Amino acid sequence: MISPMTNRISRRQALTHVAAAIGVASVFGRTFAEAQTRRTTVNTVLGPIDTSKLGFTLSHEHIIASSAGVWQAWPELFGGHEKFIAAASDQLKRARDEGVNTIIDCTTIDLGRDIRMMHEVSRRSGVQVVAATGHWNDPSNSMRSRSVEELVDFFVREITVGIEGTDIKAGIIKVANGNMIDPFGEKVLRAAARASRMTGLPVTTHSPGAARIGEKQAVIFEAEGLSPSKVCIGHSDNSPADYQSGLVRRGYYLGMDQLPRGGPVPPGTPLQAPGGLTWEQRYAQIKALVDAGFANHLMLGNDHSLAMTLQTTASDPLRIAANPDGMLFVVRKARTCVRRAVRGGDRLQADPPY
Ligand SMILES: [Zn+2]
Repeated sequence: MISPMTNRISRRQALTHVAAAIGVASVFGRTFAEAQTRRTTVNTVLGPIDTSKLGFTLSHEHIIASSAGVWQAWPELFGGHEKFIAAASDQLKRARDEGVNTIIDCTTIDLGRDIRMMHEVSRRSGVQVVAATGHWNDPSNSMRSRSVEELVDFFVREITVGIEGTDIKAGIIKVANGNMIDPFGEKVLRAAARASRMTGLPVTTHSPGAARIGEKQAVIFEAEGLSPSKVCIGHSDNSPADYQSGLVRRGYYLGMDQLPRGGPVPPGTPLQAPGGLTWEQRYAQIKALVDAGFANHLMLGNDHSLAMTLQTTASDPLRIAANPDGMLFVVRKARTCVRRAVRGGDRLQADPPY
């Protein structure tokens, strides 16, 4: 494990590292593997695999982003269980054919996770899927009423025993906060930190970067004794440069994981934060972080959901139109641009994907 303080590497080393990793396969897989001190395997929905088998890994995706119980109770909303599973498997097969070996699916109980569906899609598609325990920011009363200790028990149960009555174990702990950390959000952060310390699993966050929420989460993680080297501060690609550099210098990983949302979008498209950074700005920030020696602390992803019921049905075509590449945006567009930037030396070769 590289300690945060010794992790600064020369620009030349960084370029070599990123060029090799982006060109071949897996800086992101390796980064995720490095984050798991004391662990040599990663839990996927098809069982544990050696960290060396992760391959090219997207750090933050969703097969389904919904709400607890909706997939199970209302399959028609997804076009029917079998039809959706077939379509999702086909989409992931295409992703596999274009170089995606693994996705980290950051879907928690309150995002409508169904571990059997995830297992089936992984089995049919051949893409390795890492499932999450933890909690997003849509708690039911039954979850909101739990103590920190109870939440620790639940997270550790999903890591060591299994999820939803199966023996499929979580491979990552997901946490989330909105533009402030409310009392339930704080309980989740503390429970995640304790579960991570007990099991060695890394934590990945939903952190509105424009509101600098990652810094506030870090205060709580560190108060709980959790090492920054165990944490990916997610959604950091829409945040100020000093926020990014401050966190990464402290040893945190940065999830540059909503990259498609920097592109131009049709009017009325959901999920595009007003004032959000453009793709070109996100791209320039990634290059600056690579130049500063932090290539191996960046984790790229799309935060794409193959199905999404958190917004109106009418808005879903706009979401798809805004990113027709879906889960392949990083592979088809962002990775190419970053590679060109690295090879281009100091010249920023802005090549927006749209
Ligand atoms: Zn997400």
